[in-house]
Formats: sequence, structure tokens, C-alpha cells
Amino acid sequence: MIQEYQLRILPQVAADERLLITYLSEEKGLNPTHIKATRVLKRSIDARQRTVYVNLKVRVYIDELPDKEEYEPTVYNNVEGRPQVVVVGAGPGGLFAALRLIELGLRPIVVERGKDVRERKKDLAQIARIHSVSPESNYSFGEGGAGAYSDGKLYTRSKKRGNVEKILNVFCQHGASTAILADAHPHIGTDKLPRVIENMRSTIIGCGGEVHFQTRMEALIIEAGEVKGIETQTDETFLGPVILATGHSARDVYRWLAAHDVHIEPKGIAMGVRLEHPSALIDQIQYHSKQGRGEYLPAAEYSFVTQAEGRGVYSFCMCPGGVVVPAASGPEQVVVNGMSASNRGSKWSNAGMVVEIRPEDLENEELRMKNEEWDTDNDPRLAVLRLQEELERQCWLQGGRKQSAPAQRMLDFTRRKLSYDLPDSSYNPGLISSPLHFWMPPFITKRLALGFQQFGRSSHGFLTNEAVMIGVETRTSAPVRIVRDKETLQHVTISGLFPCGEGAGYAGGIVSAGMDGERCAEAVAGFLRVNTGKTTI
Ligand SMILES: Cc1cc2nc3c(=O)[nH]c(=O)nc-3n(C[C@H](O)[C@H](O)[C@H](O)COP(=O)(O)OP(=O)(O)OC[C@H]3O[C@@H](n4cnc5c(N)ncnc54)[C@H](O)[C@@H]3O)c2cc1C
Repeated sequence: MIQEYQLRILPQVAADERLLITYLSEEKGLNPTHIKATRVLKRSIDARQRTVYVNLKVRVYIDELPDKEEYEPTVYNNVEGRPQVVVVGAGPGGLFAALRLIELGLRPIVVERGKDVRERKKDLAQIARIHSVSPESNYSFGEGGAGAYSDGKLYTRSKKRGNVEKILNVFCQHGASTAILADAHPHIGTDKLPRVIENMRSTIIGCGGEVHFQTRMEALIIEAGEVKGIETQTDETFLGPVILATGHSARDVYRWLAAHDVHIEPKGIAMGVRLEHPSALIDQIQYHSKQGRGEYLPAAEYSFVTQAEGRGVYSFCMCPGGVVVPAASGPEQVVVNGMSASNRGSKWSNAGMVVEIRPEDLENEELRMKNEEWDTDNDPRLAVLRLQEELERQCWLQGGRKQSAPAQRMLDFTRRKLSYDLPDSSYNPGLISSPLHFWMPPFITKRLALGFQQFGRSSHGFLTNEAVMIGVETRTSAPVRIVRDKETLQHVTISGLFPCGEGAGYAGGIVSAGMDGERCAEAVAGFLRVNTGKTTI
């Protein structure tokens, strides 16, 4: 017999199956000797009150054992000899597109400018060690895309855009812990993600697909308004419809599209800084206890959002127990992001703290003046991208032309004071004290300061000089939209081209990029059916 219960229990009971079984026998009258297994279906933490509880939906197997996998496996058949589809980019968008193509009986040819996920790690180490950023292998470029060395947070607000459960199940099938199916805020962790990504590659290749590393798309081959394939820097061409999943850091791709009249438009974005607190402090605040998280609770999360002078100010991509990383993808840039290991065990917790920027804001007098100064190529569609570039370059200059990042204590920033020293930080290339309030655009700093004051009022202890702001967080999403048709997902003027994922402006985050990859694969299958006149491919 199987029974399911919704429980509200103390963290130590939720963390230990033996205690859970004792609880079930005492509270639900079950005989513990008949309980053969338990499976947690949903888990969330309720830290609203002084006593923290865990909400658990649990399935109890009485006198029987679970008869199937904890996840729903997908069947991937061999696709050798099937019509081929070019997938540019091996981030979550590209990888999930490739896997879905296989499910649909199509053969993916994945082309990735960076290295495989293991080789890539060596280049990441060099960024901290010798301050050298390879323009082809970094935190944005390489197998797994921007999501490979991340926190691996897997929750998304865009649930309507696809099947979140399917994405999580595919991750489990490729080696992620099945805990991600239960947790309200699932995450994989940067130590576990590479293995999962390698397993996805093995599925693609094992089924007859191809994956080409260190192969950069240089141009789309377009004939009479239709994409026929791509050219690469290795002189190889790959033919077929193209899923373009190149992410938000492929600025060369945006510039190529702009120069070749492939319709793009500027898109709103959010920019600001990464804010780092001691994780013990965040635990104390969020769990309302001087003892912090104790033995059984995870590093605490937070999420803040407010409005300041008509624009959103909010925390973004929070990494509890994580580290701040140098996420530049080219020379003369400093840009930061955050990641954490599966145990979220570092002594810091960080999050982006960003201000919403709309394309029309660049027409605002103060920003427009700056933007004209910065203008190198004058294309209004790339105005938001240029603002990103300029802020990242300013940061590089402030950081001493290295990967050291300019930083300021949080309270000093709100008081417009230079910090005479800085706290310990997880940011490996090092911090340099800098008056962020002075040189970052007032459009951002004024609102950030207002936001911090608001967050400090609602969460006592959050606005503190123990926290450090690290500049700059500019890559929260794409600065450009590669415009596609809502129904066919094809580019609005070029057929056979499927702009996909975060870089195209249709996703933000690992799960939503994965879901968009799946949708694009389905759209390509539809396109091929129409083009070949066949009902099946
Ligand atoms: C440090 C860090 C931490 C993050 N943490 C999280 C998190 O915890 N949770 C979350 O949901 N999101 C997180 N994100 C964001 C998330 O990684 C992205 O939203 C997601 O990866 C977008 O997927 P994508 O496939 O659309 O693009 P990307 O992941 O950016 O992938 C694009 C791929 O295309 C390749 N490419 C680019 N140009 C070319 C070309 N010309 N030819 C061939 N290949 C090309 C790139 O090398 C890259 O591999 C994080 C990002 C970073 C940088």
C-alpha cells in the first residue's frame, strides 16, 4: 500500500529518515516495521516564524517497495541517417534542443566555440591566477554554456513556457540528484554540473548526433531569405536549419546580425553589482536566530524587490554559501556573477543587486550623453549592449586593468563614502576599494541606494558594512532580442532560423533556456514537415 502525507515538521526530523518514520508512527499511527521506504515528493522551508519548519509531502510505502525510477526517463533512439539540424551553442538552450531533436527523430549537429566542460575549467583557473581571460573559453563560453559553472539553480518563473518537470527529469536521467524533483528551490551545484553535462553530450553522440568543440559560427549562410547552414572559423560549413542558441555574451553574433540586416531590436536589462555578505549573517537574519542555520538547515536564501524612481530594484541569482566569480568573456572587461557548490558550504552568500533599465532610458539626458560619447558603431539597436560594454570597461580600469574588481562596503555606498578597507571576500582575483557611488551611472546608483535602504528596513541587519558590493553585474539577460515569430519560432524575416534561449531574448536562466531549446526543436520538426510535405520526419 502507498500513502501520501503533507507534513509540517522540524528540520532535524525532515533530515533523518529514521526520525521521519518515528514521526509517522507516532503522529499518523503507522506501524514502523511495515514502512519499507519513504520518498520525499515536495520539500520547502517555512522560515516566516521564529521556529523554522520544513513542509514535506512524503510518499510512504507500506509492505511494498517502490517499483520504478524516481524520475521519468526519456527514450532517445538512434538518429543516424535522419535529417540534420545545426544547433549553435552548447549551453542549456542548445543541449536541450539537441536532446529534444533526437526524441523527435532528427540528428543534431552541435557547434560550440568553447572547449569541453573539463578543459574549460583550466581556463577558468587562469582567470583568477594570472588574470587572463580567453575570449573563447571562460564563464560564458564552452560546453554547458553560462550555466555550467554556476549555482545550478533550477527554479524558474516562466512555468507557462514549457514543461519544467521534463527538464528536471532529463537532468536526473543524466546524473543530477533526484532531490531536485522535490525541492521548492532545487539546485545542482557547480561541482556536480560538469558530469551531468558530459552525460548529456554522451547521449547526443551515442544516438548519432555530433558535437564540435572549439568551432565558432562566423556567419549564417542565407539564400533567398532562408538559412541553409553556417560557416565556421575552422572553414567547415554545416548545413541544415539552424537553432541559434549562442547566449547573451556572444556580442560578435549580435554585431554580425546587425551588420547583415537580420532583424534584431534592443531589449531591457537590469544592471548593478554583486553584493556579498557573510553567510552566517544571512542565516541569522533569515532564520531569526543568533545560532544561524544550525545543523539541519541549508544556507539561507533571500529575495528582495522594490521600486525606486519608477524602476525595479531587485536581488538576482542569489547564491547562498557561494562565491563571486570573474565572468568576463573578453579583454578589457570586468564583470561578476555568482556560483556555489552542491553543499552551499562557503562562508559567504551573494546575490546580484540590480536596477531595471529599459531601452528608452538610454534616451534619458544623462545616459544619452554618455552613450553618445561611448558610441563606436552608432547602431541604436546595440545601445544597451554598448552600455554593458562601457560599464565593464570602466570596471576593468577601476580594477587596475586586471580582473581585480572595484568594490565598496554597502553602508559606505549609501552614505557616498569611499571604503578605507574592505572585508574578506570570496572573489578570487581580489578587490580594490573604489567609490562606486561616484563613477557608476547615477541612474543606477541612486536607485540601488534607495533599494538598499528599503531592504535594510524590511530585513534588520541586511544593510551593513559587513557586506561588500562588487562591480559590475551587467549580464543579467540579453541586451538584444533576435525577433522571432510567436507561432513558428522562426526568425521574422529569415526562414529556417530559430533564435533560441537567453541570447535571443526568450529565456533567462538554465531551466527556461532548456525549455526554450525544447520548443525550438519542436518548431524545427514542424518546419521540416512543412518543407518536405511529410507528416512525419
Ligand atoms: C556564473 C553564472 C552563474 C549562473 N547561475 C545560474 C543559476 O544558478 N541558475 C540559472 O538558472 N541560471 C544561472 N545563470 C544563467 C544561466 O547560465 C543562463 O541563463 C543560461 O546558461 C542561458 O542558456 P543559453 O543556452 O541560452 O545560453 P548560454 O548558456 O550562454 O550558452 C550559449 C553557448 O553558445 C556558445 N556560443 C556563443 N557564440 C557562439 C558561436 N558564434 N559559435 C558557436 N558557439 C557559440 C557559447 O560558448 C555558449 O556555450 C548563471 C550564469 C553565470 C555566468
